[in-house]
Amino acid sequence: MLDGCTPWPAERAAAYARAGLWRGEPLGELPRRWAERDGAAVALVHGTTRLTYAELADRVDRVAAGFGAQGIGPGDRVVLQLPNVPEFVVVAFALFRVGAKPVFALTSHRANEIRHLLALSGAVGYVIPGVHRGYDHTQLAERMLGEVPTLRTVFAHGSGCSTDPRVVPLSSVDAEPAPLPAADPSDVAFFLLSGGTTALPKLIPRTHDDYAYQTREVARYCGTTADDVYLAALPVEFNFTWGCPGVVGVLGVGGTVVLADDPGAEDCFRLIAEEAVTFTSLVPTVAHLWLEAAEWLSPDLSTLRTVQIGGARLQPELAARVEPELGARLQQVFGMAEGLLSMTDAADDDHTVVHTQGTPISPFDEVRIVDENGAAVGPGGTGELLARGPYTLQGYYRADEHNAKAFTEDGFYRSGDLARLTPEGKLVIEGRIKDVVIRGGDKISAGEVEGHLVTHPSVSRAAVVPVPDEFLGERIYAFLVCAEADGQPALPELKRALHERGLAEYKLPDRVEYVAAFPLTPLGKVDKKVLAAAACDPAIARDWVTAQA
Ligand code: AMP
Repeated sequence: MLDGCTPWPAERAAAYARAGLWRGEPLGELPRRWAERDGAAVALVHGTTRLTYAELADRVDRVAAGFGAQGIGPGDRVVLQLPNVPEFVVVAFALFRVGAKPVFALTSHRANEIRHLLALSGAVGYVIPGVHRGYDHTQLAERMLGEVPTLRTVFAHGSGCSTDPRVVPLSSVDAEPAPLPAADPSDVAFFLLSGGTTALPKLIPRTHDDYAYQTREVARYCGTTADDVYLAALPVEFNFTWGCPGVVGVLGVGGTVVLADDPGAEDCFRLIAEEAVTFTSLVPTVAHLWLEAAEWLSPDLSTLRTVQIGGARLQPELAARVEPELGARLQQVFGMAEGLLSMTDAADDDHTVVHTQGTPISPFDEVRIVDENGAAVGPGGTGELLARGPYTLQGYYRADEHNAKAFTEDGFYRSGDLARLTPEGKLVIEGRIKDVVIRGGDKISAGEVEGHLVTHPSVSRAAVVPVPDEFLGERIYAFLVCAEADGQPALPELKRALHERGLAEYKLPDRVEYVAAFPLTPLGKVDKKVLAAAACDPAIARDWVTAQA
């Protein structure tokens, strides 16, 4: 396995292979196999583009050969930053095919995150969308070529131009296919990003074997078939959209994937009607918007069978509206790019679907709920969710120190989520221990935003907490301590300063409040529970300073 990754212990790996979960399938070989099954069937739809399975396989072969000609080879890391376009799928599979390892970045990532991803992965390539939503990624890429020593080539899709010869059009990555050695299926195929409990995302290595299994197993769990038409409404680089069953799972059973440019209700409703979409996946914030929009748009959603909702806590009140108002069955999804997936299923009753996150999808998933000391909680008790299994990582990439804390000695991943099991054995996620804000489905590390805030000359300390929000789920609330009482920068100034530091738009605080000091826990840590409560309720007196004095 790639150096810097943690393999599964040999015994468990052998057991997964013996049980037929890991079948030694390199992901890069899949498009050709799918094409052999029914080459004329439509695999991908985007705007006026329709790609059959045969065309998809041919493109993957040509682009793989093109990458080879550009010097991209086995083991190379390539940061992949594209929106929901067919090229995302083609490039990802072409890179799998040559044994290179894409790192799935978000299109909203800017200098701060991209520099980190390139440097941490030691990437030699970077695939960019040119100008996307008014932002010129070419300029960012040129900067990265100057700053990241491993980076050799930038592949630019669509518009945007550069005079730097190291920036080449993605359309020129094209060559006559030549036989390529198959990638080692037990090795890393690509990297997903962690939700961000530390300052910047960690890299989650996903192997060919584990991801092929995940997508096959979720498709089985969901009853996905060749008749399904899946709307990829959320960004494809999310594990949820890419493989739960998502793009890979749907293509795996011969269905059709429709790529939406953005998850807005109006466009998505139109696509559902035009393409006879049967299911889609949404985060709660987007589901909320769809429910509101459905009231006045009266869309034709008659083909829509299932709406998966996950990625953040779904309020039961919202959950209960899905079936009556969209006419499709709700499937709650608790998932993590690290692995474990738990979902409600077709046989579940309404109460289970509205109030729980179902059951883990694989009989080989091992789940534990433990207290602060690592001991199993009693029946129905709430504790931290630990997970281990055939598609749950054994360690983040190049993160020894963090891995020592994030995994138990016997290889269980500490999710940081608080969960309990109902008497019927259904999983309910109650909250999280992890210090993140989930704003409209984006996970923002409190630590990262705090780190940037304290670089402002007037700010001496910062504590970021989530504040519940009807629309976005949560918003970012920053408590700040200033050295000088009269030097308190206003929110627009702080935002501008953070923006200039290259922090992505969605991570900027929504509100700031200045305090004289922070409340502390008995161990002397900032008491974020108190801050979070204070953020929700302005009536809570900011008297913690005197309480500590
Ligand atoms: P990510 O790795 O970005 O997919 O984020 C995974 C995290 O999202 C989990 O560890 C949870 O904290 C949160 N999450 C995902 N699905 C749900 C859900 N259905 N309910 C509550 N939290 C969720």
